[in-house]
Amino acid sequence: MKEIQSIGVYCSSSVRVESVYIKAALELGEALAEHHITMIYGGGAQGLMGKAADAAMAHGGRVVGFMPHHLKEFEDPNWAITEMHMVDTMHTRKRLMFEHSDAFFILPGGFGTLDETFELITWGQLQLHEKPIVFINVNHYWDPLEALTKNIFEQHFAKPEDRNCFKFVRSVPEAFQALLKAPEPPSPEPMVEWV
Ligand code: AMP
Repeated sequence: MKEIQSIGVYCSSSVRVESVYIKAALELGEALAEHHITMIYGGGAQGLMGKAADAAMAHGGRVVGFMPHHLKEFEDPNWAITEMHMVDTMHTRKRLMFEHSDAFFILPGGFGTLDETFELITWGQLQLHEKPIVFINVNHYWDPLEALTKNIFEQHFAKPEDRNCFKFVRSVPEAFQALLKAPEPPSPEPMVEWV
């Protein structure tokens, strides 16, 4: 996994989710630190994202956050991470998170998580990148989305080869294993099967 130096983590900003999700966020933060992989994320202090960042820091990891100034009204910046960058807009944040990440892990989240993740997937469809996108399907949270994506492909609303843009796994360890099978970014070749 040595080519993956940083992973963008997208997940819930909610503090009200069940403990099974918090446990997974803590596990992910710790695992990133153990693998010496920098965690790139939105820079918030709360929710699953804050838990993952704090766990990575607590285990000696490196965490970089990008937060738009205006978001301070809604979310507390996490000043306890390695680098906290305040940026001008949401679009700048998305771009910087994308550019700084070699792969993406998607823990359970809400509409913000989906917005950011679908942009990554559609950029993959358009071959703007070949970075692995892995949904970590903790507690079957993403089952309805996995079923929807299956339906999209079965009914030909997406090209079969676009299945390779993302995958679903059941746990944090499986997400790291999935990276071992993923294409090495950047590659000039068309995307290959890695499921
Ligand atoms: P949520 O999954 O709704 O809890 O949101 C997770 C994160 O997504 C939050 O930190 C939000 O700041 C962020 N977010 C929400 N909407 C957007 C958006 N349109 N673009 C980029 N980030 C967003």
